Amino acid sequence: AKKQGRNRVCFFSEELEHDLIKRHKVEKILRDSLEQNSLEVHYQPQVDLNTGKIIGLEALVRLKAEEQGWISPLDFIPLAEDLVLINQLGGQVLRKACKFAKRLVEMNAPIKMSVNISAVQFASPNFVSDIADCLEECSLPSRYLELEVTESALMHDFEETQVILTELSQMGISIAIDDFGTGYSSLSYLKAFPVDVLKIDQSFVKDMMQDSQSLDIVKTIIFLANSLSLTLVGEGVETSDQADTLQQLGCLIVQGYLIAKPEPEQTILTRLC
Ligand code: C2E
Ligand code: CA
Ligand code: CA
Ligand code: CA
Repeated sequence: AKKQGRNRVCFFSEELEHDLIKRHKVEKILRDSLEQNSLEVHYQPQVDLNTGKIIGLEALVRLKAEEQGWISPLDFIPLAEDLVLINQLGGQVLRKACKFAKRLVEMNAPIKMSVNISAVQFASPNFVSDIADCLEECSLPSRYLELEVTESALMHDFEETQVILTELSQMGISIAIDDFGTGYSSLSYLKAFPVDVLKIDQSFVKDMMQDSQSLDIVKTIIFLANSLSLTLVGEGVETSDQADTLQQLGCLIVQGYLIAKPEPEQTILTRLC
């Protein structure tokens, strides 16, 4: 029994040790990458199903671990938030994405660039001025920039959020609600905030072919977006059945592995130019 007890303790501590080592490794790679401004950004096309044309790109950050390949954003975005590195990370991603968008404008392939914003960034006092600075540095017209925020990021302080979004909107930047339908929030914010785009969460897109409730949710989101004159983007589209269904229901812009995975700049350039 004593031996078993020891083994059990050992088992748990090894697990914990493994997590701590992993976290520590990721932290080191993250800090080094930020210091060297060497984070990569990949871009996933958003396509208009009626024309087949790429009308937008979503910027997705990539962290390269030497031996292990890529580290998932799901493993380092929360860490960057904990370590108060998310503003630095977000600033670097925003600059890279805006520079690339500017390059595309110059190459006569202008496209809307959509950048993910963490709730922590959104709540930071210099957020709006940082974005204005970035647009100026990159000489990117604001109409090419879109910011993706989740519902939960908007729910901290209603009035503060209203001020920030109104400022961004007046600057000409568009606002997309990411993972729409998965947050615990009321819909009234859609009236109060200048929202432009709803991104239908990939879980609904994935389940709608088998599950009538998910299909009903997708239909309801599409109805809501049309009623409020919001643009719709269907996320995580992996099959042509999913794309066909979304198109028939009136969600004409889609994004997902069916069309393309997130890709480095060079690959996007060959698609667009
Ligand atoms: P998200 O913003 O909802 O991004 C969509 C995620 O779904 C991306 O994962 C994308 O690669 C993946 N995806 C795209 N198409 C498909 C598909 O057809 N099927 C499936 N199964 N997945 C698909 P990724 O790049 O691993 O990013 C995960 C999350 O990390 C993002 O979710 C976003 O919340 C966060 N993230 C990524 N880049 C950034 C960033 O620059 N800043 C911030 N704050 N968060 C980021
Ligand atoms: Ca997103
Ligand atoms: Ca999403
Ligand atoms: Ca997500």
